[in-house]
Amino acid sequence: MPLAIAYAPTRDRYRTVVVGAGPAGVLAAAHAAAAGPVLLLEASDLPRHKSCGGMIHALSVRALARHGARIDNAIREPEQVRFRFHDWDAEVKKPCSLTFYNVDRDAFDALLVEMLPPNVEVAARCRALTVEQDAEGCTVTVDAQGSVLRIRCSLLIGADGARSTIRRAIASAGRPYVTIQDLVEFTSPIEPFFDCIYSSCIGEGHAYSYVVPKDGHALVGSVFYPGAKHPHRMQELVLQGVRERLPAVGDTVAREACAAAHIRSMDDVLAGTGRVLLAGEAGGFLSPTSGEGISYALRTGEMAGRAAALEPALALTAYRRSLRPLMAQIRGKLTLLPIMESGAGRALARVLPAPVVSAITRYL
Ligand SMILES: Cc1cc2nc3c(=O)[nH]c(=O)nc-3n(C[C@H](O)[C@H](O)[C@H](O)COP(=O)(O)OP(=O)(O)OC[C@H]3O[C@@H](n4cnc5c(N)ncnc54)[C@H](O)[C@@H]3O)c2cc1C
Repeated sequence: MPLAIAYAPTRDRYRTVVVGAGPAGVLAAAHAAAAGPVLLLEASDLPRHKSCGGMIHALSVRALARHGARIDNAIREPEQVRFRFHDWDAEVKKPCSLTFYNVDRDAFDALLVEMLPPNVEVAARCRALTVEQDAEGCTVTVDAQGSVLRIRCSLLIGADGARSTIRRAIASAGRPYVTIQDLVEFTSPIEPFFDCIYSSCIGEGHAYSYVVPKDGHALVGSVFYPGAKHPHRMQELVLQGVRERLPAVGDTVAREACAAAHIRSMDDVLAGTGRVLLAGEAGGFLSPTSGEGISYALRTGEMAGRAAALEPALALTAYRRSLRPLMAQIRGKLTLLPIMESGAGRALARVLPAPVVSAITRYL
């Protein structure tokens, strides 16, 4: 049965409200629905568009397989791409064994929404403005295309991404990375690599860039530290560098800017407070070293949804417990981050044999 999408909530009370229909929110809503009606609020229209490289880690495929979902219809050419460390300063390339499925992110997200059970009410173009908590639950204030509504729930899951409103309503939140991604033409096939580019010549605040081929086009993206000046100008330099090295890369067809959570310490990672749980990037759940976020969103969404299906007063404790292995993983990656970002770390990656770089990359 096709999913029914409304443009305003139909009731003023639900057991669970989930904010954000990305991978974290969809999985959270699907699982929370086991305990009663769920409202899933999404600020944009659905199906939505999210700026993304569309690199799908095997962990994401496994997380979806647990729900009987397959990503085949979202996969694009080349179907798989291998991660490659590409240092422009020394013109060194290190192909690694880490492989990703290459998807159209819009098709992938549309496929996720199809997994929702009928007792999840989806309200698109509805933005959560704030949330207040009391001993019995939460009240979320929603802008439903100009009408301001107050919705009551026993539990709320904030899965509203890198610029989470829900996170800011319950705790502090750092500034995210700024990302710019160009969809570019190319005249002949480029190699099936997800090239991760490091260069000291792009400008202050440039973290890294990437090139990934996708169905007759390529995505050229860049990640900039919070507060970086002139990211669009730096992105032009990146495009110039890409075209010098890959003459088949042509004009930009479309450009978009977005944000990604910038995780520097475990203080940036938060499961929630009281009756509010945070999942996906809203909670700071993504790989701080690689920026891979989809598998983290799917897994934390599932965990938050399962916890939400328990007695609401116990949900946060249960969620924190299930998050422990993932938290330990993020903590481990955070210890590697300063080395990775340092000049010494990059110099080391240049000289280490490719199999060693490849082995390290598997943990990023
Ligand atoms: C340029 C770029 C490239 C990336 N490439 C990759 C990649 O190749 N592979 C990978 O694994 N990860 C990648 N990521 C990261 C990945 O996209 C995210 O980690 C992942 O989408 C997070 O999922 P989420 O559900 O937590 O949040 P999101 O996917 O961001 O979804 C949040 C949703 O909440 C909605 N929302 C926001 N505020 C409100 C509100 N107040 N009320 C209601 N709804 C709201 C938004 O409209 C959005 O639909 C990339 C990120 C960027 C920016």
